[in-house]
Amino acid sequence: MQLREDIRNIAIIAHVDHGKTTLVDQMLKYSGTFRENEHVHERAMDSGDIERERGITILAKNTAIKYKDTAINILDTPGHADFGGEVERIMKMVDGVALVVDAYEGTMPQTRFVLKKALEQKLTPMVVLNKIDRPNARPTEVVDEVLDLFIELGADDEQLEFPVVYASALNGTSGYKANEQEETMDPVFQTILEHIPAPIDNREEPLQFQITLLDYNDYVGRIGIGRVVRGTMKVGQQVVILKKDGTQKSFRITKLFGFIGLKRIEIQEAVSGDVVAVAGLEDINVGETVCPQDHPESLPWLRIDEPTLQMT
Ligand code: GDP
Repeated sequence: MQLREDIRNIAIIAHVDHGKTTLVDQMLKYSGTFRENEHVHERAMDSGDIERERGITILAKNTAIKYKDTAINILDTPGHADFGGEVERIMKMVDGVALVVDAYEGTMPQTRFVLKKALEQKLTPMVVLNKIDRPNARPTEVVDEVLDLFIELGADDEQLEFPVVYASALNGTSGYKANEQEETMDPVFQTILEHIPAPIDNREEPLQFQITLLDYNDYVGRIGIGRVVRGTMKVGQQVVILKKDGTQKSFRITKLFGFIGLKRIEIQEAVSGDVVAVAGLEDINVGETVCPQDHPESLPWLRIDEPTLQMT
């Protein structure tokens, strides 16, 4: 089996305020993925002003960080239970999760909620014990709490082998022990590379790409975000979308976007394992599969949140 050693797809999950944003920003900064004129506060994630449509995400975002020769795609997840469907869908695009836990607060309701989803989806977990700079941090106890939670939520034997990295995202330090910190994010990156599985490379097989999140942009209209599960997708390619009612719609891919840092960049081709955005598809919906006309094969349907949510 061929693997894509050049990428890792990982979701970052945590209870609110345990430090996901700070950690990802620190990783960006450390890896030098930011351009000089880019600032952390440009993050698209915090703009809550786009109206929420059925299945359209306003909270999820992808940050692509190059570390050594590997592109690490970090997909953020909402922690709140109202976004259960969205969390599940994001988890369909990754091979592993980084669970961030505050070394003082320990496991909280949203820690349980997101971890449960990750374990159910059979993802490979790693734990980042964050905020170890806090004077009252209790790393040893909290790691025990985390382990108990894994057991309680039915983690399998492999998932129970999760590695732990201790960090202060705030100070930009990390390490394999709470009291042995280096002023780099290397231990975090290294753990991702060593522990999170690389995607399967089956780029020669017929294309399968599932619309997992929807986004909208004034220039190109509706954008479908997803992972190339199988095969290769190219600009100009003629494909079909498989609808829920069993019908097909034919279209041509006009634009493909990959990610660098927090930005989308136009690309010409995406292969199995890549998380990309596709434009040029009118009337697309979450869950639909994009594939070649001569090989229409749908991926399993996805759960979508009911549109009764109140944004706070
Ligand atoms: P998110 O909700 O998980 O994205 O959390 P944020 O990254 O926004 O962080 C929440 C708060 O915790 C902010 O005030 C951060 O400055 C703070 N914070 C994040 N990481 C650390 C850390 O390592 N140590 C300390 N002391 N505070 C942190």
